[in-house]
Amino acid sequence: MFSVGLLASLFCLVVIHARSTSAQCWSKNACIATSVCSAKGGTSKAGLCPGPTQIQCCSCSTCMDVKTCSAKGGKSQPGICPGPSNVQCCKLGSGKPKPVNTMLTNLAAILRRAGLRVLEQPGWKTRGHGKMASVKSILIHHTAGPSKGEYPSLGVVRDGRKDLPGPLAQLGLGRSGTWYVIAAGRCYHAGKTINDSIFGNSNSIGIEAEGTGTPSDNTGHRYWPPVQWNSYVRGVKALQAAYGVPTARVLGHKEAAVPKGRKVDPNFSMTEFRAALR
Ligand SMILES: [Zn+2]
Repeated sequence: MFSVGLLASLFCLVVIHARSTSAQCWSKNACIATSVCSAKGGTSKAGLCPGPTQIQCCSCSTCMDVKTCSAKGGKSQPGICPGPSNVQCCKLGSGKPKPVNTMLTNLAAILRRAGLRVLEQPGWKTRGHGKMASVKSILIHHTAGPSKGEYPSLGVVRDGRKDLPGPLAQLGLGRSGTWYVIAAGRCYHAGKTINDSIFGNSNSIGIEAEGTGTPSDNTGHRYWPPVQWNSYVRGVKALQAAYGVPTARVLGHKEAAVPKGRKVDPNFSMTEFRAALR
């Protein structure tokens, strides 16, 4: 056993030595300009590539499947990861500070900056069932409220029902496309979800758009006033940009709620809604 072990360690020494004398970049395609490498989220290493000094060996420490990257809120960058083409360098984070254990007191400003009409409800900045743990997702709801009026569900969304104290959502959306900023803290809108650490009340912004919810056919958005639907898209886009929420984490309540079928809102197509966010 001893002699085998000795031989093995000698062999290792030889291999290490051989490597150090002919150091090369892991792929000749990864020999790229340092500026390009850093823009992709990679790290450059000098001395491993032929050519001018700014051409260096680029490698990535966050190689992963593009879908996994998107779910984490990152942007996939091709060309600097080994393996199949779906494995790419995941550039995480936009550099913006993410909300952690805080009240979302910038909601009104975010929507206004997007050119939307915003009505702040008195006391919204301190309203909520405690603080938000984070903002990892946005849940799309409809109120299933009265068939007429701009935002007749305001009182219910703000103050709650007999069985569920308000606020029931941070944001409301009226039939005119006007946004109602109701609460900055945690709201009871999600219930049990497919993953509460992402879509639960502590981690998800809830938007209750005024709508009867009928017919509940899950196709298109033809039962919604265009001005309201367009405002829904613009507002969600603005919130996504502000909080770094990927489109894959903008779900309809009907998609996030468990058990499946517990919720039917919204009654427009979420596939179409998400396509409009891109
Ligand atoms: Zn809902």
